[in-house]
Amino acid sequence: MIMFRADLHCHSTFSDGTLSSHELVDLAIANGLTGLSITDHDTTDAYPEVLSYAAGKGVAMIPGIEFSAMHKGTSVHVLGYAFSLSEQAIPSLCKRHQERREKRYHKILEKLAAQGMPIDEIEEPIASIGRPHIATAMIQKGYVQSVEEAFKKYLSEGRPCFIPGEAFSVEESLDAIHASKGLAVIAHPHLIQKTSLVKDLLSMPFDGLEGYYALFFPKQEERWVKIANHKNWLLTGGSDFHGSIKPKIPLGCSWVGEETFNILQRHFKQHDLRNTAT
Ligand code: AMP
Ligand code: ZN
Ligand code: FE
Ligand code: FE
Repeated sequence: MIMFRADLHCHSTFSDGTLSSHELVDLAIANGLTGLSITDHDTTDAYPEVLSYAAGKGVAMIPGIEFSAMHKGTSVHVLGYAFSLSEQAIPSLCKRHQERREKRYHKILEKLAAQGMPIDEIEEPIASIGRPHIATAMIQKGYVQSVEEAFKKYLSEGRPCFIPGEAFSVEESLDAIHASKGLAVIAHPHLIQKTSLVKDLLSMPFDGLEGYYALFFPKQEERWVKIANHKNWLLTGGSDFHGSIKPKIPLGCSWVGEETFNILQRHFKQHDLRNTAT
């Protein structure tokens, strides 16, 4: 009997993953996954095309996105699932993110050049350009040995080439997801350090939280599973696979079962029958 496993969190080359959306589908099948959602940062450019690519291949898909947001000066990620692909609220917020990212990208390049580390502008268009693309270019130039080193020395908050860029609120991200008839989920709450931030997020109108994440131990996930059950929220999970920029995290290392996936799939089918992959 095939065990149903759906990875609900991964990134393609439309954002900072190193595999294309088609390669992600192929890898999901090779890894024995039966469900998948690609959740690129601030873009849905993989959809609806990847749904057609995956159709009939044995891996069911639902649309997903991971919005970058700020709350009281701290970065928070908001996952959106099973939204309608014909609503405009998510694409319009994505367009604003794209402008924010383009501006920030050029400012970071200026900072790096001022530090004696010029890098060439990436020529091929990327829907959601981010710091990992810059880190990769820095490795190619020989300025750093790894993505981690690039972040640690230059790109992370508080480091010399960090640029915060324009900020979008968690509430705005929630509104866009709900206006697009999707379900909003707190991404990787395990990584949130501040207790007051967790408290704020848990009081917002989310529909779920990501209880199963990356390579966390069941013991570390227990707390979030309990909270989701207590609030009667959806309990989602995924690997946050990025390909070779995060080589220690394999696709499918965190996942949800059929029951959770079916809730999301039914939700999607209600409003987007035409775009539904089988
Ligand atoms: P950005 O969206 O441009 O702000 O970049 C954030 C992304 O960079 C995250 O989603 C991660 O994929 C990656 N990232 C953040 N911090 C690190 C780090 N310390 N080492 C490697 N990758 C990181
Ligand atoms: Zn990322
Ligand atoms: Fe994230
Ligand atoms: Fe992610």
